[in-house]
Amino acid sequence: MSTEQLLQQDRTHVWHPYSSLLSPTPTYPVSRAEGVRLYLHDGRTLIDGMSSWWSVLHGYNHPRLNAALARQSQAMSHVMFGGLTHEPAIELCTTLARLSPPGLDKVFLSDSGSVSVEVAMKMALQYWHSQGKPQKHRFIALKNGYHGDTFGAMSVCDPVTGMHHLFADNLMQQYFAERPTSRFGEPLAAQDLNSIEQLISQNSDVAAVILEPIVQGAGGMWMYSAEYLKAVRELCDRHDVLLIADEIATGFGRTGKLFACEHADISPDILCLGKTLTGGYMTLAATLCNAKVSDGICRGEAGVFMHGPTFMGNPLACAVANESIALLQENDWQGQIKAIEAQLTHELAPCRDLPQVEDVRVLGGIGVVQLRQAPPMEVIQPALVDQGIWVRPFGKLVYIMPPYCINKADLRSLTQGIYKVVSHLSS
Ligand SMILES: *Cc1c(COP(=O)(O)O)cnc(C)c1O
Repeated sequence: MSTEQLLQQDRTHVWHPYSSLLSPTPTYPVSRAEGVRLYLHDGRTLIDGMSSWWSVLHGYNHPRLNAALARQSQAMSHVMFGGLTHEPAIELCTTLARLSPPGLDKVFLSDSGSVSVEVAMKMALQYWHSQGKPQKHRFIALKNGYHGDTFGAMSVCDPVTGMHHLFADNLMQQYFAERPTSRFGEPLAAQDLNSIEQLISQNSDVAAVILEPIVQGAGGMWMYSAEYLKAVRELCDRHDVLLIADEIATGFGRTGKLFACEHADISPDILCLGKTLTGGYMTLAATLCNAKVSDGICRGEAGVFMHGPTFMGNPLACAVANESIALLQENDWQGQIKAIEAQLTHELAPCRDLPQVEDVRVLGGIGVVQLRQAPPMEVIQPALVDQGIWVRPFGKLVYIMPPYCINKADLRSLTQGIYKVVSHLSS
């Protein structure tokens, strides 16, 4: 089939993320991907700046991950997880418990990030029920946060960008604190705590605070002071509220620490992992909790945790996750992220002087150029592709988080391409 024929059928039958079928935005068929390169069906090649939404750590089509997948498929692709268990899942859960912040020893596997957030919220609700405090049933989330697209997860996403009014009758009502204004690396501005402190101290029905530690991802690409995170942990302790850290985007090294919570030296009560877990190969997520939460739940009325997806602990996904984590630890990921951070800092700095640009921020393997106004996707997307780079802007945000294995020249193509395209936007 020609590229045009593929696109014709795509436009007729395929619904893409957050897309309209009436006015489709530019879409590019990919035939193959290897290392940091996407090979388009029309013969063009793009350098990947997105890691397929944070998930691809080691590059595409990695021989070690391919081999792990093939090996596991020879043994078993799937068995139910109720009453059965297997080595790939046991190894993965043991590794996650060992690597994650202290205390998070119990692991519940699920299929996607959004579901791992549902699981985290359900854990918090069941925990308080078992403590004889079922009235503690609401969550505090941060404005500009993003936690996924299912209903529970959606209820804790930013109410404006998440269009809560559309779903008002069906969404749980939560509390929203102002996001911290203090940037990463800066001390905490005292007033940054006012909003969350007020919510947590004045409402006795709060089960947990849920937040993305250090980096707010899809809701605004904002990197905030580690002191804020530390202070929220203390607030939660003081007011007997659980803390849920959503590290679905930040987990496994992206911010320069294995987990972003380490920047503040804290442990949440519940931790969500996803995206990067299989190195971008397939969908898998995990919700970790401490013994306080797991004991509470298991001593409660139900006596069990009320959740169990059909494809829970899928052996193929677990085997690839195990290999991806092994690779990460063999590689000098800290060195890779430091080098990416230094180069992004240096090469994105000139964007600051462009009239189109409001702010430039870099942390670890994440570079963000925030524009003054959102360019039309049908303008900026083809312009970036014409530069030979795969960068997918979101509103005013042009951002990259490339695979950790990217080399200097390819990263330079990304930063130069962004500069060129942004400088040609109308200002
Ligand atoms: C992507 C993301 C989710 C949702 O994960 P899905 O796998 O898309 O369901 C939740 N929280 C954060 C922080 C994310 O970045």
